[in-house]
Amino acid sequence: MTDEDRVVIICAVAAGNPNPAEGSVTTHCADCGVQVWLAPTGQGIVMEHGASPLCIGCGTKSIEESDDAETQPIWDAQRIEVLRALRRSRLDPR
Ligand SMILES: [Zn+2]
Repeated sequence: MTDEDRVVIICAVAAGNPNPAEGSVTTHCADCGVQVWLAPTGQGIVMEHGASPLCIGCGTKSIEESDDAETQPIWDAQRIEVLRALRRSRLDPR
C-alpha cells in the first residue's frame, strides 16, 4: 500500500479529553505515537479497512501534504457517538 491510498481515521488526542465516546479505547497515532481515543465506529473502520489512526495534527498534515486526499463526511453513527459523549461530559464534568 502506498502513502497515496492509505486509509486514515483522525482521532482526538487522549490527553486533555477525559470524556470520549462510550466504548472508546486508546491507541497510538500511527505517525507520531501520541495516545489517541478510538471510538467504536473508528474501531470498525480500522478492522474493516485497515485504517491507521492519526492524531488531529498528523491527520491535518497528511491531508495538506497530499495532492488528492479524499475525505469522508461524518457518519450518522459517529455523530451519535459524539453527541452522547458531549451530553455525558455536561452531566458528569471531570
Ligand atoms: Zn500524530
